[in-house]
Amino acid sequence: MIYLDFAATTPPLQEVQEAMLEVYRAELGNPSSLHTPGQLAKQKVAQARDQVAQLINADPEEIIFTSGGTESNNTVMHVFQGKNIAISAIEHPSVAASAQAYAGTLTQLPVDQWGFVRHAEIPANTDLVSIMLANNEVGSVQDLAGICKTIKSGRGGAIVVGDANRESPDQFVKITTPTVENSQRSVVENTTENTLYVHTDATQAIGKIPVDVKALGVDYLTFSAHKIGGPVGVGALFVRRGAPYCPLILGGHQENGRRAGTTNTASIVGLGVAAGLTTTNKTWQSYDTRVRTLRDWLKAQIMQQIPHVRLNSPTTNDLPHILNVSFAGAEGEAVQLYLDLADIAVSTGSACAAGSLEPSPVIMAIHHDAEVAHGSVRFSLGLNTTRAELEQLLQVLPGIVQRLQSISTVNLDA
Ligand code: PMP
Repeated sequence: MIYLDFAATTPPLQEVQEAMLEVYRAELGNPSSLHTPGQLAKQKVAQARDQVAQLINADPEEIIFTSGGTESNNTVMHVFQGKNIAISAIEHPSVAASAQAYAGTLTQLPVDQWGFVRHAEIPANTDLVSIMLANNEVGSVQDLAGICKTIKSGRGGAIVVGDANRESPDQFVKITTPTVENSQRSVVENTTENTLYVHTDATQAIGKIPVDVKALGVDYLTFSAHKIGGPVGVGALFVRRGAPYCPLILGGHQENGRRAGTTNTASIVGLGVAAGLTTTNKTWQSYDTRVRTLRDWLKAQIMQQIPHVRLNSPTTNDLPHILNVSFAGAEGEAVQLYLDLADIAVSTGSACAAGSLEPSPVIMAIHHDAEVAHGSVRFSLGLNTTRAELEQLLQVLPGIVQRLQSISTVNLDA
């Protein structure tokens, strides 16, 4: 099987598997217990917390272990229950749905045709802005440090942030920051600050590009273990010291009273090892060189060999391992199924939305075109993807697409 769906999940690294097995075999106790097996487990969890904190340049006390990206995102939105939340139009459903459920008012910040937040006006009384660092479907990487700076430094009025490195020269983020009215809002637990807070879902960015919470200037950051070679079902939430917080899950004092439930020692150790290896190996450098080169080669071949292809991924400020394209007149699901028959795994939309007949909301937010959204296919490469695997993909992909296009009712030359 040629696996080209690493953005959906990445198998646990050998070192991660071994570290987790060691925890299981050592018969460690519950880290909340005062006896020796409990205290040994507690030490392991503390080490993992250090490793995770180091990866994102946070303090260990600012890290809360959760069951993954979905829970971390839900937790942040729950902190701002009843408040005014603004999110980008291309958030993962775990942000979009929980913001919808908890927000007093919800504002959607539009994105341009490459998936960048742009010309976005944040209402004056906003309490929380949530913009993902990198998108899971198309791979656009936001200028989050710039956006945060604008938000944090602004006090009323419209502010324009330009970024010369962006693809389109007139691309900018226009943000109306909160005015003094903001002081009227009731303070969520644990703060006396009067501020607009920023959350980012860095689940897809982590390990693929450098992620530093201080450089970004965010108050909350989410990520998940299984995208960086850790186990599924564990993740982390960074909460900047002093930022508002209240637990989503109640019923125990674990995680310093911030997330109840018996500590999942083995998974947390697995996350710690994956985070440690990511830091030590500077994994993002391998992505930026080897993986990016392979991905760009695949993109060029697809554009050359297949007619009526539309590129959905940006060509700069992008994740190095994601390529999202739409084949006109060919349903993404059909392409995926034919590729599966040829033992090649790719994805359409996000895995979480798979099984739904709705077009991908992310591609819809970018292109506003159901045809393009239905035709979208995501190839996501891993550190061990080889050129030979991509060559095998290219032996079958053009034929599959052309066969589907030949029976399509869409006028491809229109
Ligand atoms: N956010 C993003 C951007 C994701 O890609 C995912 C996983 N598809 C999640 C959140 C959810 O993470 P988890 O699977 O750990 O719940």
